[in-house]
Amino acid sequence: MRYASRIDKIPPYLFAEIDREVERKKKTGVDVISLGIGDPDIPTPKNIVNKLQEAAEDPQNHRYPSYSGMLSFRKAAAGWCKNRFGVSLNPESEVITLIGSKEGIAHTPLAFLDPGDTALVPNPAYPVYRIGTILSDGIPVDIPLLEKNDFKPDLKSIDKETAKKSRLLFINYPNNPTAATAELEFFKEAVDFAQDNDLIVLHDAPYTEMTYGDYKTRSFLEAKNSREVGIEFHSLSKTYNMTGWRIGFAVGNAEILAGLGKVKENVDSGAFQAVQLAAVEALEGPQDSIRENMKVLEERRDLMVQGLRDLGWEINKPTATFYLWFRIPSTYKSSIKFASDLLDKTGVVMTPGVGFGKYGEGYVRCALTQKKERLEEALERIRRLK
Ligand SMILES: *Cc1c(COP(=O)(O)O)cnc(C)c1O
Repeated sequence: MRYASRIDKIPPYLFAEIDREVERKKKTGVDVISLGIGDPDIPTPKNIVNKLQEAAEDPQNHRYPSYSGMLSFRKAAAGWCKNRFGVSLNPESEVITLIGSKEGIAHTPLAFLDPGDTALVPNPAYPVYRIGTILSDGIPVDIPLLEKNDFKPDLKSIDKETAKKSRLLFINYPNNPTAATAELEFFKEAVDFAQDNDLIVLHDAPYTEMTYGDYKTRSFLEAKNSREVGIEFHSLSKTYNMTGWRIGFAVGNAEILAGLGKVKENVDSGAFQAVQLAAVEALEGPQDSIRENMKVLEERRDLMVQGLRDLGWEINKPTATFYLWFRIPSTYKSSIKFASDLLDKTGVVMTPGVGFGKYGEGYVRCALTQKKERLEEALERIRRLK
């Protein structure tokens, strides 16, 4: 079969590759402990599941939903942003429903890139920024996220010509895979950079609620003038353990959202209304589950960080996300080699940093998506390896 050249430009989807390798291992009888994929193992809160069941019974919800999403959901999303960040949004024009934020992220470049236009894409990063750009016939330009800059892009170091040529800037805090966080100062800097270079900022923010202790994240939309230059993607996936439900939303600049909406109108027909109604329950109902969730994750984080430090690994304790991001042992040159040896010798899956881009080489990502006992078992196996 002859595929379009844009398909040939897409590297194999890392997580699908890892899935296949894990399946192979399992078939040979290995008890695999997967710390590879950022998919919560804790179920969706009961009140949300109940709401879905109820809403699924209602024939009104069996028909095509509206393209931009139910107004009740968009109002709930706006209310949530107001509560959480003090940001006021017009639910009619400044909020759009997404079939998971990945959908919106992948579709946005189609509305703004002409063939050959460039997009500034952090590296390492969630792969969709780059792939969404390629699928829109755009050219991704790497902006490195380096440890010495706390895994934030050094916007001042981007050369003038590249910046001027670019139409999009992707950012993502709290960050996957590095677990780095950003303060309002950084968002302000991104707004200034966007205004100076006439580009659009796309802030991917699925981890705003996944924070430890008292740490509270800020929204990109809290930065002055941000609404003139950008939008922010939110997801219910990580906040409410709803990855399988496919529901999220984007907020911010009405014209940018209208561009995305135009693509969506012609590609999908919206999110199942029963899911949107359950998501209203998530956003407006009791929020206790989030802190309970984070307590569980905090215990796992502390266990894993301490355990790996005891083995002599240098590892930072993250203030947000459910990822640990750390350097592979210095005896290794390649993160893929490290991850594959780890799997072979211990049955533990971690994600090689290079899978998130070349600047991720030398690192590995460990997702805290297994119960404490399994993490202890993983540590024990790694210990025996030494
Ligand atoms: C999980 C994740 C998403 C995807 O969220 P969905 O709403 O489930 O599509 C987007 N961006 C990043 C960085 C993620 O880690």
